[in-house]
Amino acid sequence: MASDPTRMCELLVGLDHVDVLDVEVEGLEVTITIETRQILVGCPSCGVLARSKGRRSVRLADVNHGFRRVNVLWIKRRWCCPDADCPRGSWTEEDRRIAHPRSLMLDRAARWVTEQVGRYARSVNEVAETLGCSWHTVNDAVLLYGEALIDLPGRFGEVSALGLDEVLFLREGTYRTQRYSTQIVDVNRGQLLDVVPGRKGAEPKAWLEAQGADWLAGIDYATLDLSGSYRAVFDAVLPNATQVADPFHVVKLANEKLDETRRRVQNETLGHRGRKGDPLFRCRRLLTRANERLSEGGKDKLLGLLAAGDPRGDVATAWTAKEAVRELYAHIDPALALEWVDALSDDMDNEEQPIEVRSLGRTLKRWRLQIAAWHEAQVSNGPTEAVNNLIKRVKRGAFGFRRFKNYRIRALLYAGKPDWSLLGMVGPP
Ligand SMILES: [Zn+2]
Repeated sequence: MASDPTRMCELLVGLDHVDVLDVEVEGLEVTITIETRQILVGCPSCGVLARSKGRRSVRLADVNHGFRRVNVLWIKRRWCCPDADCPRGSWTEEDRRIAHPRSLMLDRAARWVTEQVGRYARSVNEVAETLGCSWHTVNDAVLLYGEALIDLPGRFGEVSALGLDEVLFLREGTYRTQRYSTQIVDVNRGQLLDVVPGRKGAEPKAWLEAQGADWLAGIDYATLDLSGSYRAVFDAVLPNATQVADPFHVVKLANEKLDETRRRVQNETLGHRGRKGDPLFRCRRLLTRANERLSEGGKDKLLGLLAAGDPRGDVATAWTAKEAVRELYAHIDPALALEWVDALSDDMDNEEQPIEVRSLGRTLKRWRLQIAAWHEAQVSNGPTEAVNNLIKRVKRGAFGFRRFKNYRIRALLYAGKPDWSLLGMVGPP
């Protein structure tokens, strides 16, 4: 129990090993001036008793006190080594209990912003505004403390169903060059295990190999989008795992083919790309919506627009194909799944079908085993989609990421299930 007012003040600042020299309130701004108590210091290089070389103050952002913004002015001690032969020269004191040397926030404030941005996906801007400090001050703290938290060993354990998925994380430069990354997901738990740069396969392969043979041996199912490079990774690193095509991507491909058909027919019938009043352009969203989610009015409207803009029925055929692909996943008898996929792809890859539907049929053939395997694996695509949605939320909050490292840390803080109860205990090195 503290009875001395100065001591109480130190406890309030959360630093009971410093002296509070001054508290200044100016409107909604509070500045607390502190210094450390230690006055005898040895040279870190040679151990000789150091000589004082004056002070240097640094302003650190703290968490708000009610509506008041709080700054801590730390009067740092400067030291020098009296031994002329010592290479050390002079230095400024550091104390990680107060602040990390690479952060302009009080340690406790840095941890608080890490949770606000990392766990609750608040934008860096918003948090910086709340505390009255700069975007960089908050962002640096989140990256510094966030990285320490996500890289703790034991964040994830054994994984029985693993998924690889490509994610666009930035468009860069004048030509908005697209940069991709690969996310590695525990499909059963819906946990983002890691994010690696690129979508070519070399990086995910290296990541998987680094986890060790025992860990890899626990993986029964390996889910992927319809990408040849991830297939090659699984063939090489997880030869015994059953590969499963992610239903989300299979349905997405069917929708893309439907959209291609619509645009081609549009162009063929009207000689231009979709415009506001064109029937096919007007039904583009109704087309990709799931059949059972169309209202009666929506269905009538769709049929009417197709009758007006799709003379040969190509778009209607592509729509039926898309719905048939979706139906694959309603049909759950594993014994019949492969037969079903084969029959469907045969129907589609047929000379009478529009070229887009034929191409869809050929892709289904190439991935027939992986598509049918979903029924046996029963790994839901729910968790992967949940992770994707989480990441979209992170990206919206961040307005796109400039650097891969920032993206990785933010995505893992939000979707990687770090142990937040450790936030108060572990810090950056
Ligand atoms: Zn020295």
